[in-house]
Amino acid sequence: MMKRLGLIGYPVEHSLSPAFQQAALDALGIPAHYELWPTPPAELSTRIATLREPNVVGANVTVPHKEAVTRFVDSLAPRALRAGAVNTIVVRSTGLHGDNTDIPGFLFPLTRRGFPIGDLRVVLLGAGGAARAVVVAFADHRCRSLVIANRSLARAQALVAEFGLGRALPLGTELLPELATADLLVNATSVGWDGHSSPIPLEWLDVLPSHALVYDLTYRQTPLLAAAHARGLATLDGLEMLVAQGAESFRLWFQMDPPYELMLRAATDARARRFGTNG
Ligand code: NDP
Repeated sequence: MMKRLGLIGYPVEHSLSPAFQQAALDALGIPAHYELWPTPPAELSTRIATLREPNVVGANVTVPHKEAVTRFVDSLAPRALRAGAVNTIVVRSTGLHGDNTDIPGFLFPLTRRGFPIGDLRVVLLGAGGAARAVVVAFADHRCRSLVIANRSLARAQALVAEFGLGRALPLGTELLPELATADLLVNATSVGWDGHSSPIPLEWLDVLPSHALVYDLTYRQTPLLAAAHARGLATLDGLEMLVAQGAESFRLWFQMDPPYELMLRAATDARARRFGTNG
């Protein structure tokens, strides 16, 4: 009997997850289909109830449901509890288990490149859901310093207070001295998706140390990444994080090592089909 998995969100049509999850399932000969499950907020509880049907292995959860879904699962992994958000549901004999693989997914591309997480001076732009996963990652693994800069200062301050980590700043010129000593600049705002906008003026990148890495969680090319690259800085977009969080979901669903490289190739191809060669 064909098993079923899917992505719960609204909208989900743009997602690259089916491409790389199905590639992994097919490569390992697992008889399962990864589907798109578009779910308006009013239908979330009904959708979650369908996960209890036979043959469903689990689900990924994306915008706008990551926080709301914590109320509908039967148990939560400690990191999902800390993040207050679930991006992975695993169907267990004991019920629906919620986990958050965005946290290891964010760290994976950094550790894979040998970045010494504990030594990093980090400037994080954003204080929404993705930024929260980043803060949990650094709260668990401890970086040298963390500045959380957000358009709405109160949201950044709330994160600092909740996790007892870092300092909060607005997205203003107060950031320039922080950028001047940063090893890692992370964009976890939703600004840049359109290919035209940037969360900070691009000339601010001039003050970054030459060894700094600019990591934009957007999984396509953004003006921030293009400007960093033009300045000779190392850059990383969000595709590896996307695949890494999905690979960790796969590990939780099937309790086997995910074929990460194959998944990354499938995601890269799917992105090229959607956005053009460099995203
Ligand atoms: P949220 O809606 O939760 O947060 C959005 C963030 O962007 C907030 O900090 C918000 O600031 C800020 N923002 C929005 N508009 C502006 C603006 N015009 N100027 C300045 N700041 C702005 O979104 P998410 O955290 O869920 O997602 C953020 C990004 O991360 C998205 O691009 C998403 O695709 C990406 N992402 C990537 C993942 C991956 O696997 N690669 C995983 C998850 C997310 P304010 O608080 O002031 O509104």
